[in-house]
Amino acid sequence: MEVKNLINGQLCTADSDRTADVFNPSTGEVITQVALSSDADCDRAVQAASNALQGWKNTPIIDRARIMFRYRDLLEQNFEQISALITTEHGKTLAESRAELKRGIEVVEFACGIPSLFMGQSLSNIATDVDSDVQRHPVGVCLGITPYNFPAMVPMWMYPIALVCGNTFILKPSEKVPLSAQKLGELLLEAGCPDGVFNIVHGDRSSVDVLLAHPDVAAVSFVGSTPAAKAVYAKGTAAGKRVQAAGGAKNFCLVMPDADPDLAVKALAAASFGCGGQRCMATSIAVPVGGIADSLVDRLSTHADRLTVGPTHQGDSVDMGPLIRREHVEHVESYLQAATEDSARVALDGRRGFDSNGFLLGPSVVDHVSFDTGLAQEEIFGPVLSVVRASTLEEAIALSHQCEFGNGASIFTSSGAAARKFREEFNAGMIGVNVGVPAPMAWFPFTGWNGSFFGDLHVQGAEGIQFYTRQKVTLTRWPERADDFEDPIWSSNR
Ligand code: NAD
Repeated sequence: MEVKNLINGQLCTADSDRTADVFNPSTGEVITQVALSSDADCDRAVQAASNALQGWKNTPIIDRARIMFRYRDLLEQNFEQISALITTEHGKTLAESRAELKRGIEVVEFACGIPSLFMGQSLSNIATDVDSDVQRHPVGVCLGITPYNFPAMVPMWMYPIALVCGNTFILKPSEKVPLSAQKLGELLLEAGCPDGVFNIVHGDRSSVDVLLAHPDVAAVSFVGSTPAAKAVYAKGTAAGKRVQAAGGAKNFCLVMPDADPDLAVKALAAASFGCGGQRCMATSIAVPVGGIADSLVDRLSTHADRLTVGPTHQGDSVDMGPLIRREHVEHVESYLQAATEDSARVALDGRRGFDSNGFLLGPSVVDHVSFDTGLAQEEIFGPVLSVVRASTLEEAIALSHQCEFGNGASIFTSSGAAARKFREEFNAGMIGVNVGVPAPMAWFPFTGWNGSFFGDLHVQGAEGIQFYTRQKVTLTRWPERADDFEDPIWSSNR
């Protein structure tokens, strides 16, 4: 599949000599190349989005929403093809790709209902014969910059909501996974999205820098690693733009002594090793509380060792696919190497010597991890679960206040009191109780905290609508005669 930009309703070749390889991580083969757009390509996309803005924001909101209804049907009709594309360029299993796409389609379904959430408020007679109302307006040209780990779902957190709110949009997908985004864009055109309303510019951080500095871009949604999120937030806000920037994570899972052990082991394995641990909501620290640590680590290691790891492009036969790149496998392995050099114990080692050119690495469990080491403090973004033992719930919760990140956290327990204490006191924005990956569904915000989010309004749900709109308040008075004038609001006689 040839990768092209989508500008002003046309697929077009980028005007650039710089390219990046796109791999199938299951085979290790280069499947295509993506041109990294030039400054002129970025400028053309912003021009197209700016030119389309006036017509689009004046299009009745119900017609904007109807495009999303048609889009949803097209996504369903092309469900298997898009899922296969995700698996090909990312490497996650087909089941995981289908689940990702389903979650993305749920945002489209949410966007279909935006007209009723877009309504303003009014109050009559706020002063004598004066009425007031507040209405929502789009912010303008919006930019979305997305990571490799959810090639479809993360872009879909953004543009369906932005578009129905009356904005035009430029997507800069991850250069590692450009194919799914291109298919999503083609289907949006087929659904009737007018030229220039939705554009795709492929590229790397230099394209991001050009787009971020462009005076005609009004708002920026970013999802990616924390250093990049911080940089995009700083540059975007310094340039006067509205920015929401979601970053990396280090998610905890506490297992209390009263937890159902079967549920806890299965859920922990799925949360830690699903998508090869490449989820911003993946569990990467297990905290067994009290005397259950030895048995939890044993059972978890046995369970994880039975997961089938292999290439994913030939069907549904494996539990866990490859990582995104060879260098990423080496990066993740470096943490296992470090574990053997300090006091930690590698209970399950995923370095299995696979008979494949794919970027494979099995699940690893590292026990007795000290909280001040990289295994506990840094986002590894691979299938490595660090076990940090705690004696009490209080001790486990205290760890979260020494962590840079604050995306998600779960507790497994049969005690309502423990679950409630955890929910109230744990220092993270998304909480699961007996749920491994507590990622909010489309109508709730994706509420990362601390170093996992920079900005005020998160993606998804009503916060998404707030982010992509600004409000205007109108005060109205129709005096019967011009000589009636006495200011009813500022008059000292009120
Ligand atoms: P990344 O930060 O390397 O890249 C993300 C996007 O930003 C890409 O489009 C890339 O081209 C661009 N980019 C990279 N460096 C940049 C920079 N310095 N300035 C501007 N743009 C830059 O992230 P990735 O490796 O593609 O994705 C994995 C990361 O994304 C993990 O850290 C994961 O936790 C995070 N993530 C977070 C969430 C969330 O909701 N918090 C969701 C998904 C992924």
